[in-house]
Amino acid sequence: TKYGDVSAASLQQLSARHFPLCMGHLMTQLHAEKHLRHGGRQQLGLFLKGIGLPMEEALLFWRSEFAPRTPNDQFDKQYAYNIRHNYGREGKRTDYTAHKCTTIVCFSGGPGDHHGCPYRRLDETQLRQALGRLKCEDRKIEEAVAKAREGHYQLACASAFEGIHRVPEMDVGVSAPLQYYTESRRIHAE
Ligand code: SF4
Repeated sequence: TKYGDVSAASLQQLSARHFPLCMGHLMTQLHAEKHLRHGGRQQLGLFLKGIGLPMEEALLFWRSEFAPRTPNDQFDKQYAYNIRHNYGREGKRTDYTAHKCTTIVCFSGGPGDHHGCPYRRLDETQLRQALGRLKCEDRKIEEAVAKAREGHYQLACASAFEGIHRVPEMDVGVSAPLQYYTESRRIHAE
């Protein structure tokens, strides 16, 4: 189910409440650096499309986030094509879909890259800080850190979900960022 209130203007707020850490982390880095490298743009861009962000709103969002560092004409030349491409409006016109956790967990990248799964990529201090900012219960933060240490990233993500949304146990675990988002929206709508 898609919720119809997804626009460039609502993304920051939706991110703070409903995005899993992999996407929230990219939103934060994008906003801080006014830029994201290709892997991050793809991971976040396809997710935003998946939650129902229309293409015109996506262009608006990325353009304004990049604006402090990237002039409009450069944005159009370098980045707009890829966004339209992800929406199936360029090239082979394939309608691309968002990645699942099993794919994201395997992404590796250099120091300037922020894509991938944070439960794998962040160190324990960074992970505690990131979950603390999301007001995750301390006990669940420690549970998530322990699971991440054992290499159970999706279970770590489920613990964080429970600690952030104050639910006893996630029914099905986390299999994809889109599913995490939908589950979060459902809980808040109840
Ligand atoms: Fe994202 Fe999946 Fe990692 Fe959670 S387990 S942070 S949804 S990639």
